[in-house]
Formats: sequence, C-alpha cells, structure tokens
Amino acid sequence: MKTLGLFGGTFDPIHNGHLHIARAFADELGLDTVVFLPAGDPYHKTQATRTPAKHRFAMTELAVSDDPRFAVSDCDMIRGGATYTFDTVQIFRQQFPQAQLWWLMGSDSLMKLHTWKKWQTLVRQTHIAVAMRQGDSLNRIPRELHAWFGEGLQNGSVKILNTPLYDVSSTQIRGLLENSENADGILPPQVARYIRNQKLYGRPK
Ligand code: ATP
Repeated sequence: MKTLGLFGGTFDPIHNGHLHIARAFADELGLDTVVFLPAGDPYHKTQATRTPAKHRFAMTELAVSDDPRFAVSDCDMIRGGATYTFDTVQIFRQQFPQAQLWWLMGSDSLMKLHTWKKWQTLVRQTHIAVAMRQGDSLNRIPRELHAWFGEGLQNGSVKILNTPLYDVSSTQIRGLLENSENADGILPPQVARYIRNQKLYGRPK
C-alpha cells in the first residue's frame, strides 16, 4: 500500500526546519512521498499579508528538488475562498483511494487542531504525525483532544516524531532578512538565491 504524507504550510519562506522534519517523517513513517502543500493567497483582504503564493510555490519547488520522495502540489492554492485541511484530505482520498494518508504538522498546529473544520472526521480519515517545536509540551494538549490523542498513540494512528528539534521558523527568517541579516545557514541554498534574485523580504519601504 502506498503511504502518502501531506504537509501543509504557508512556507513563507520554506526553510531547513521544514525539510528536516519532512525527511524525518518520511524515514520514521516509511512514507513513499511527502506532498508539500503551500497555502493560497489570503482570500480576505483583512488577513495578514503574506508573500504571493506564486513565490512561495516556486521556493517550495526549488527546496524539494533534493529528495526524490518530495513533491509539491498547488491543490491548496487554486481553490477559491478559505482553504480547509478537511477539504484537502477529501481531494487526496479521492485521488488515492488505496493510499494510507498521513497529515504532517508541527506541535503548534496540533495545539489548535480542535479548532479546525470537522476535525473529528478529519482524524478518522487521515493519520496524524507531529514534530515537536520549541516551547511546546504534550502536557499542554487541549482538553478537547485528550481522548482522541491518547487512543491514537495506542492504536498507531497518531505518531510523535523522534527526531531532535530543529528550532527555526519562517517568522525568524523574515525578521533576519528585513534587517539585512544573513539567513543562509537556515535556508536551502537555492531558496536563498531565489529570495535574493526576486528581492523578497526586504525592509518595507
Ligand atoms: P511562521 O513562523 O510564519 O508561522 P513556520 O516556520 O511555522 O512559519 P509554516 O509554513 O507555518 O512555518 O509551517 C508549516 C508546518 O510546519 C506547521 O505545521 C508548522 O508547525 C511546521 N513547522 C515549521 N517549522 C518547524 C520546525 N522548525 N519544527 C517542526 N515543525 C515545524
């Protein structure tokens, strides 16, 4: 049976922490493919600005070229309106009816999972794998998630990644670049080049 990891994110920009956990997810879960799913442009003008999806998609494409298990999909970019993980999972279930699906996330996303659209149905339709992030602890999982989480760990439908934390975030990188500081060590080199060529993340004028 094919096993597919779905990895949604803003990827603004994609960084070595994303690639580190994607590799670890693929190794530990034995995934055939990890599909990176950059989020679309905000459909509502009052939402916080982010780098246009075409650039975030291009950077993600460049970043995943190093690992043959990695792929990118524009599935979350081309849908109109708000994009929900629940809908994304339905699309992949239809497209790959025989595959085992894993939704991959950092622990900050896990802590908010109970606020996601139809989360209780979602977690029956896909396995969930979580990479811990700085400052998060499994003791702080919201009460609403306790029963599902405990059961999932027991029956194998929930996995916490063993790999050590890689402490970096896109927010931190945007901050460095806005201050003209170097972020090369925490960005894939081809992404760092793209950012320079396209003049992204400069200090707002
Ligand atoms: P931002 O700082 O803009 O919020 P981010 O670095 O958290 O961005 P996202 O694109 O929002 O990146 O993340 C996509 C997914 O990857 C989320 O589930 C997030 O928790 C996870 N993630 C991002 N960076 C890491 C990291 N260093 N370790 C573990 N998980 C991570």
